[in-house]
Amino acid sequence: MRFVYADNSATTPMTEHVIEAMLPYMKEHYGNPSSLYAIGQTAHRAITKARGQVAAALGADEREIFFTSGGSEADNWAIKGAAALGAKKGKKHLITSKIEHHAVLHTMAALEKQGFTVTYLDVYDNGIVRVEDVEKAITDDTCLVTIMYANNEIGTIQPIAEIGKLCRERGVLFHTDAVQAVGHVPIDVKEQNIDMLSLSGHKFHASKGVGALYCRKGINLPNLIEGGAQESGKRAGTENVPGIVGMGVAITDMVSNMEENMKKVSALRDRLFEGASKIYHSRINGDREHRLPGNFSMCFEGVEGESLLLMLDMKGICASSGSACTSGSLDPSHVLLAIGLKHEVAHGSLRLSLSENTTEEDVDYILEVLPPIIDRLRDMSPLWERLMKEEKAAKQPEAV
Ligand SMILES: *Cc1c(COP(=O)(O)O)cnc(C)c1O
Repeated sequence: MRFVYADNSATTPMTEHVIEAMLPYMKEHYGNPSSLYAIGQTAHRAITKARGQVAAALGADEREIFFTSGGSEADNWAIKGAAALGAKKGKKHLITSKIEHHAVLHTMAALEKQGFTVTYLDVYDNGIVRVEDVEKAITDDTCLVTIMYANNEIGTIQPIAEIGKLCRERGVLFHTDAVQAVGHVPIDVKEQNIDMLSLSGHKFHASKGVGALYCRKGINLPNLIEGGAQESGKRAGTENVPGIVGMGVAITDMVSNMEENMKKVSALRDRLFEGASKIYHSRINGDREHRLPGNFSMCFEGVEGESLLLMLDMKGICASSGSACTSGSLDPSHVLLAIGLKHEVAHGSLRLSLSENTTEEDVDYILEVLPPIIDRLRDMSPLWERLMKEEKAAKQPEAV
């Protein structure tokens, strides 16, 4: 049976190039980067090099890059840090969107408990924040605007440069969770007026447990972890040397192949959309144009997302759904509800996230197995039966 990994928004496999680059830092160069002897200094130089690589990929200065354990940590640090800086000046209002990752939303909830107020902006039915809404929401009390670069479920890309410009003009800090975007679409933190940006290695073929926060020079973000002098004393703890080295290589590889990758991956995604759109009662989630190259997200009415995933898994396809999450809750995702989907429609959602490793054969295989699976699930669905009855009744002429 074919194996198709189509869940690259959840995580990506590491490339051989990245693994090869990491190995020496687990084998011979295992020294502590803070030690003065040679193998320690070799590790230290490798971290400096990786910092430069991450900075170059974002258009940042290497002193503006702080390594973290991943995207969630970077999000927490940026938001809680900006809130603390704001509170010092009596500014306790934050602005975000309704479709952020839980690393952002749950951080906001924690801040609300501490007396901050948060505005959650609408994203309308295309899944995109409107700049004029950000403008209207900013008050004299606003200390941070945080809007994700690209959504992890529906792939929509937000007007980051426009929001950045607005925030800079209004003197409000602007953070973006760019975990889904880094390495996949072009980013320039200076051009786009981004003050802080979160990224995560495992979303672009580096290892899990490593990420970074870009924080513009001049922003005195509070320390995250007290201890040693690592990360300019702001985030203490002996560095994840192999992880950081791998992330430097991965981000460099992604940026140098970006144009080609974007073209290839978006063509495969379009082929998927075209094929899957032929399925009766299906709809595409999120804006068709402003979306990540690899993101396919659709809803199939009368289908239960979890069952769909299990059946795809039996066919060797790794996919994801926006409905019932691992917590066992039956609520559909906050993202699908935010774009106005009804509960029962949102339950039939499917996300396929492609990568440079995806092939045309993979896409054709998905398009071959998906329609019969949906037919089978609909045959068992009382919801679908009702929908079909209603449709039939609506088509029939009024009885006289
Ligand atoms: C994956 C992801 C995160 C979390 O990153 P980790 O490195 O897994 O902590 C945060 N935000 C978005 C948008 C993500 O897709």
